Amino acid sequence: MAELERSYLLELWSKNVCPNCGKEIPEGTRVGSGKKSEGGFCSLDCYGENYKADLTERHKRVVAAAERHRKS
Ligand SMILES: [Zn+2]
Repeated sequence: MAELERSYLLELWSKNVCPNCGKEIPEGTRVGSGKKSEGGFCSLDCYGENYKADLTERHKRVVAAAERHRKS
């Protein structure tokens, strides 16, 4: 996994933002492998979708979600 994507995933984790859909993750509902560096998602659907997507598509989503929340 690209270093930049990893740092975005950590950033989104700390903000409780889903890297797949960019929505906020409600307390206690985060889904993922348990590793911060692999990200936390709002639902099993998003988790599955994110890992189904190819690397380029996945990276775009993660970057877009991080950018969106940096501005707000
Ligand atoms: Zn989601």
